[in-house]
Amino acid sequence: MAYVAALMLLILLAIAARTVRGGWTINDLAMGLIRLAEGRRPVQLHARESGRLGELVAAYNATAPEIFDRIQALEADREQLRVVLGAMAEAVLAVDPRRRLLFANASADALFGLDPDSVGRLIPELIRSPQVQGAVEATFRIAHPDAYHVELTLPGRDALRSPSRILAVRGTPLPGKSPAGAVLVFHDVSELRRLERMRQDFVANASHELKTPLASIKAYAETLLDWALEDPEMNRRFLERIDEQADRLDALVRDMLSLARLESNQDFYRHEPLALIPVLSTQVETHRDRAEAGVLSLTFDDGGVEGDATILADEEAVRQIFDNLIDNAIKYTPEGGNVRVACSATPSLITVEVRDTGVGIPREDQSRIFERFYRVDKARSRELGGTGLGLAIVKHLVSSLQGRVEVSSRPGAGSTFVVRLPRASASLAPASPVREG
Ligand code: ADP
Repeated sequence: MAYVAALMLLILLAIAARTVRGGWTINDLAMGLIRLAEGRRPVQLHARESGRLGELVAAYNATAPEIFDRIQALEADREQLRVVLGAMAEAVLAVDPRRRLLFANASADALFGLDPDSVGRLIPELIRSPQVQGAVEATFRIAHPDAYHVELTLPGRDALRSPSRILAVRGTPLPGKSPAGAVLVFHDVSELRRLERMRQDFVANASHELKTPLASIKAYAETLLDWALEDPEMNRRFLERIDEQADRLDALVRDMLSLARLESNQDFYRHEPLALIPVLSTQVETHRDRAEAGVLSLTFDDGGVEGDATILADEEAVRQIFDNLIDNAIKYTPEGGNVRVACSATPSLITVEVRDTGVGIPREDQSRIFERFYRVDKARSRELGGTGLGLAIVKHLVSSLQGRVEVSSRPGAGSTFVVRLPRASASLAPASPVREG
């Protein structure tokens, strides 16, 4: 539209140029201004006349390059701002006093499902969250330069692909009397809050887990001191219980320390090229006595991958992973069952399956057993000396080796834990990769 108007002006000036004195100079000036408006670098004009028109040309020659430079600088600033806002993880919305959207960055588009057509439309139409609308209104009620802060929950648009989010909002009114608008920045704190909750749950669970054996130890010791000290049979029985509970405490504290060490990011484990099969076969053998005591068959199948099954891993980490998985398989498999550890390999991965014919895990629990202290059957786990932390440690260790662990199971039929580990690239394999365990 502006371009058409400018063109018409140009035609009129061209006609005037033929009829009015100094018309050609006016024509040059008009062309120069249009060039400037189009964002093209201005050219210097030659004054065809002296007097007022000549002064006008001189003023144009002096100011046009400066105006051009300023426009260029403004454009560059605007582009820079657009890139910065676009790269921000936080969602940014700018709203005018009539509650129309002035601007939304890419994160805001993704969070609120906006698109370029959303600009200019009313916020309540675009974002159907009373809490977001409330934050916009509250921002308009406060005076610049104060800021409005609130934490709100944005319901998910789709439970799987976009679950509900917890957002920390900072709303700033734009300077101006009534104010001239508002800018709202939304910081997604869902993950932060989830981690905080996990930490709180961990402290609560850990205290509870430690309290139970401690309470038992205290009760047995008090009973002994109160009346059973003279009874040798009671003495032995109670001291055995105290010993059992102390073992439980010891296992708990050791597992908690393992987890803490894994999480504190200390380079405790040193991942080096490691031949997996000898470590696995030693690990299976260390459980043979326990399997035999439980009347279970325990087998190991190296899948014929012995020669080149090298992974980049710390041997102690690998031992801990399979110690936990084989221990669980034996613990949760009744007499007469089978536990089988089997390997297979592709050019990029080594897969180890720990399969048992035990009690199995109900479907609804399968995604949760890797959480700390989660047990399908608390009483059974405790009775078997479990801490509820073994699989949490396994998951952590496997992911520190860039691998994955999965479970498939049918209650009553058994469980299979599958660990996939990336092979060390051939160039990393040492000349003599076998380290004895
Ligand atoms: P725990 O010390 O209780 O065994 P884990 O973290 O090792 O703790 O395992 C968590 C829970 O997962 C166990 O309490 C048990 O309910 C279940 N589980 C783990 N492995 C098996 C398995 N092989 N068969 C059946 N249930 C299992």
